[in-house]
Amino acid sequence: MKHNIKITPVQQSKVGELDFNNIPLGKTFTDHMFICDYENGQWINPRIESLHDISTHPAAMALHYGQAIFEGMKATIDVNGIPLLFRPAKNAARLNFSADRMGMPHFPEDLFVEGLKQLVALDKNWIPPQEGSALYLRPFMYADEHFIGMRAATHYKFIIIASPSGPYFNKRIKLFAETKYIRAAQGGTGEAKAAGNYAAAIKPSEMAKAKGYDQVLWLDAHEFNYIQEAGTMNIFFKINGEFITPSLDGAILAGVTRMSVIELLKDKGYKVTERPISIDEIIKASKNGTLEEAFGTGTAVGIAMIQDIGYKDSEIYVSDENPVGQMVLDTINGIRSGKREDKYNWMVKIEGELV
Ligand SMILES: *Cc1c(COP(=O)(O)O)cnc(C)c1O
Repeated sequence: MKHNIKITPVQQSKVGELDFNNIPLGKTFTDHMFICDYENGQWINPRIESLHDISTHPAAMALHYGQAIFEGMKATIDVNGIPLLFRPAKNAARLNFSADRMGMPHFPEDLFVEGLKQLVALDKNWIPPQEGSALYLRPFMYADEHFIGMRAATHYKFIIIASPSGPYFNKRIKLFAETKYIRAAQGGTGEAKAAGNYAAAIKPSEMAKAKGYDQVLWLDAHEFNYIQEAGTMNIFFKINGEFITPSLDGAILAGVTRMSVIELLKDKGYKVTERPISIDEIIKASKNGTLEEAFGTGTAVGIAMIQDIGYKDSEIYVSDENPVGQMVLDTINGIRSGKREDKYNWMVKIEGELV
């Protein structure tokens, strides 16, 4: 092992207390966590310990200035009981992209993947076996230096926690196109997976939920016309046989699922175009019957089928079914559960790890 990760396993696992048929979303955590500290310009002391609270100094800089970023990924288990990670190197690289934007240090990408593998190997009994379910992994980094003042912190923590999850949305969803608040603008932090982006999105999301919608559909910051993405997912529209997804313009999060879905759709023979797409174009396509389907893509949601979009005082009808979206979801879930050939080489097996 290249990195010396100190592993202190728990005496007694709590996995027996989990009802795999009824997993409360985001509330259950595995036995262990991975932690690493940043001091004097170096990441030191990588370790896996029992999940525990971390004491917080009231001047911890993340609480005041918001240097906090995260990743989201999933581990699944194949038919032979071997844990699998979905493209973990992409998340390791994106964490460092986010770190750059937020003035935070890079985390070694091989240690990121190694830490994940060791943690998942140790907590492998927590991976729900049902297709569409997974062990959600949350790597994150935040400034924990005690200091009042506006500058980059010199102390950080990088942590990975893990939470078993069932399928996210099993119903078709409704989006609300927001025309007062924005999520991101070019030059801002929208393309970083920064905690603050979510802080700014909470109020509009709650307002959309109160109106009966599932998530906000974000529009561009200048004209409130071009579509960016939905709450925690990138978005794809099928118009007249062609798939269109907003291009990565600096205000959109570059999803690993988005990238994978583009590859998959192209491989299945669909035309996929990355370009700006406006809400006006969607309204027009809906009216003239060329809007065939739409779905959101993201690690947490998988593929979320979109029924309709609320915009100003009207509803834009999308579709009642998603034949292609369903094919994409089944293909990705099949690859993740090892039941379908991994022809794109997405999965990383966790075999022969320590523990
Ligand atoms: C994480 C995230 C996504 C989805 O990215 P994946 O890598 O596919 O999980 C999309 N939009 C936002 C705003 C996100 O934070």
